[in-house]
Amino acid sequence: MTDNELPVIAHWIDGAATTGAGDRTAPVYNPATGAAQAHVALADQADVDAALASAERGFAEWSGYSIARRQSVLFAFRELLNARKGELAEIITAEHGKVRSDAMAEILRGQEVVELATGFPHLLKGAYSENASTGVDVYSLKQPLGVVGIISPFNFPAMVPMWFFPIALAAGNAVVVKPSEKDPSASLWVARLWKEAGVPDGVFTVLQGDKVAVDGLLASPVVQSISFVGSTPIAQYIYETAARNGKRVQALGGAKNHMLVLPDADLDLVADSAVNAGFGAAGERCMAISVVLAVEPVADALVAKIQERIATLRIGNGAGADEPDMGPLISAAHRDKVSSYVDTAEADGARVVVDGRGFTVDGHEDGFFFGPTLLDAVPTTSRAYTEEIFGPVLSVVRVASYEDGLALINSGEFGNGTAIFTNDGGAARRFQNEVQVGMIGINVPIPVPVAYHSFGGWKKSLFGDAKAYGAHGFDFFTREKAVTSRWLDPATHGGINLGFPQNA
Ligand code: NAD
Repeated sequence: MTDNELPVIAHWIDGAATTGAGDRTAPVYNPATGAAQAHVALADQADVDAALASAERGFAEWSGYSIARRQSVLFAFRELLNARKGELAEIITAEHGKVRSDAMAEILRGQEVVELATGFPHLLKGAYSENASTGVDVYSLKQPLGVVGIISPFNFPAMVPMWFFPIALAAGNAVVVKPSEKDPSASLWVARLWKEAGVPDGVFTVLQGDKVAVDGLLASPVVQSISFVGSTPIAQYIYETAARNGKRVQALGGAKNHMLVLPDADLDLVADSAVNAGFGAAGERCMAISVVLAVEPVADALVAKIQERIATLRIGNGAGADEPDMGPLISAAHRDKVSSYVDTAEADGARVVVDGRGFTVDGHEDGFFFGPTLLDAVPTTSRAYTEEIFGPVLSVVRVASYEDGLALINSGEFGNGTAIFTNDGGAARRFQNEVQVGMIGINVPIPVPVAYHSFGGWKKSLFGDAKAYGAHGFDFFTREKAVTSRWLDPATHGGINLGFPQNA
């Protein structure tokens, strides 16, 4: 197939697929083979305008649905997703590269939020105070914002949009999703499912594209809020621009997650956990562990145990019949960037214990593979330590004490996730209080909170006040109104009084 014959991945506007007004496209690769398999349409301003006009119409209709009717659509979506999630997992693996079981796992974590959102009638009840003053009742209403924007990264093409849209829709908003242009098909599949579940046209829109689409959403007065997940520099740009334009905004950024290993920890559990959390999804997870802080004297033994386990990992095409443990990275450019971080670490004095540079898979020589890499004694001044690598590179840093490890974690610019491994409950409790990070695991390496808690980091891992999903999600996607009402009782009607209202 020549480049021109490749299929074009469309937008979803006004309840139908469309390649839009513009003629700009970007290639979409299969990372396991390295071959372009499609092009994705890149929105121009005319597409942004069409998407938002349709979303406004969708909002007018959807926000008028009764609670029971909206809830029945959410339940229908949940049933369809549950029955057909295998199709979605295949799409994810083909465009992202993660292995099928991991693609399924991200869908299941997203489905949790759908299931939480089906309970929205209970979660969106206002409060009522009867007789706040004599004959006066005060109550609050939680109303939708209107048209809301969701901008997502490549690494969780199904789960990250699902952190937001189930709750946004449950609350009565219309949603415009701008997926990553690297793996855009998952959102399009989800849009079709919403249509089947019964949402009116315009309520769930997919706008494919790049900075043009993002800036169009940020500039439009139609868009009431932005939920962004991606790298820190873009998160900061989104936060500042959206806030300047008067929008509600939550912008989740990058991460550098440390695992602190105390000498009393079970080192086999630690080694298993470090390998799972460091190399799952080829390290392309914002909650991946990228640094193991080994409190001496355990570092030598721990490095040996991690090295042993790495030797057993199978790397290959995630769609293969005999599923490997780890697939490729998202692009050739990203693979080369990951490789350059290993060069930097080595030049700065780290010991390369397992070297994934130049790794190839037989029969997939052009795939974007990078082998699992273990670095020991990484200097904390190295860019390989301070910056997010976002690949299968696990760095071990040796520290003398709990205090030294904690100080390193707290000195970093990110604060997404962290974990402590110990059998000492007192130390773990101290850690949860002292560490400046938003999500903490105690003998749990990837502490992604369940749907009824909220997901989000501290510092440069989250710009804004609201985390994703849970109670934060219901607050973010609604605006509260307080109503003070008096129905006149002719017997107590009080005449003219220019004073400020008091509860006399
Ligand atoms: P990215 O920042 O490159 O892209 C994210 C989104 O922003 C995409 O939709 C992209 O099209 C858009 N975008 C990119 N450049 C832009 C620009 N200049 N102007 C406007 N929009 C732009 O991130 P990515 O590479 O797709 O994803 C990986 C990053 O996401 C990592 O840093 C990872 O840590 C982070 N991430 C964070 C979380 C979290 O919960 N904190 C979760 C997943 C991923």
